[in-house]
Amino acid sequence: MTRESLPGRRRCWVDVTENLDLGTLDAGATPGFRGEEASAREQTEVLRSQLVALQARLYAESRQRLLVVLQAMDTGGKDGVIRKVFSGVNPQGVRVARFERPSVSELARDYLWRVHGQVPAAGEIAIFNRSHYEDVLVVRVNSLVPRAQWKRRYRHIRGFERMLVDEGTTVVKIFLHIDRDEQARRLQARLDDPDRHWKFDPHDIEQRRHWDAYMAAFREAILQTHRPQAPWFIIPANHKWYRDWAVMNILVRTVARMNPQFPAATIDPASVRID
Ligand code: AMP
Ligand code: MG
Repeated sequence: MTRESLPGRRRCWVDVTENLDLGTLDAGATPGFRGEEASAREQTEVLRSQLVALQARLYAESRQRLLVVLQAMDTGGKDGVIRKVFSGVNPQGVRVARFERPSVSELARDYLWRVHGQVPAAGEIAIFNRSHYEDVLVVRVNSLVPRAQWKRRYRHIRGFERMLVDEGTTVVKIFLHIDRDEQARRLQARLDDPDRHWKFDPHDIEQRRHWDAYMAAFREAILQTHRPQAPWFIIPANHKWYRDWAVMNILVRTVARMNPQFPAATIDPASVRID
């Protein structure tokens, strides 16, 4: 892939710094993008064809692995990103793992047990729709385990991700940031549309009351686990067209950097006779 065809060098995310304040961060911003929505959508399509081509190589090469962790508040757009960004990509090489409330058998084990089983295999992209981060987010906000217990988990998570990277997995973590008003609009839209009632979860209304506690929990999770080898990308996600463009950019850059190659032929094609 030539340099010209790679996405722009501009940052399409919010940098992680000590003074990160999710309460005041503009969720309607569009860092790294200037122009009209239509042009973002066009660019997203170009990026999609690049992602499709890169993923075909990753799969054929069958050596490297990519883990994409997606986190957001309820209605933040995780499902939308998965649907839109990964459509067209060969489903054989992509797997989505969804982490819901742990089952009895999952709760009977340590919190990373169910997560480790879902990491990508060689040649695969695994997308985590929620992840081990729930164990320092929903668990922390709702005091599902004592404070001393979740506090230790940042260290475990850093170690777990470090191990994955050391063993050859590329890890990127994406936080889709919407604000509280946007969440209200999206929840209302779910109530207004009978085809979306199935997505409405009264639990979301309850969790919404803890918005500030969630922002604090996200902030600490991001700051404690943002590492060069397993970085967080904070994407302002009120605008769905921007969100999709930005996530697509990050994925194309990431896989391009992995530089997957089609394996060389193990035979001389000219010498093979197909009768
Ligand atoms: P959804 O993603 O809409 O299907 O919702 C899944 C729900 O499972 C969310 O409310 C999450 O917060 C919850 N959840 C995911 N992981 C955990 C966990 N480790 N402990 C408790 N709740 C969780
Ligand atoms: Mg939900």
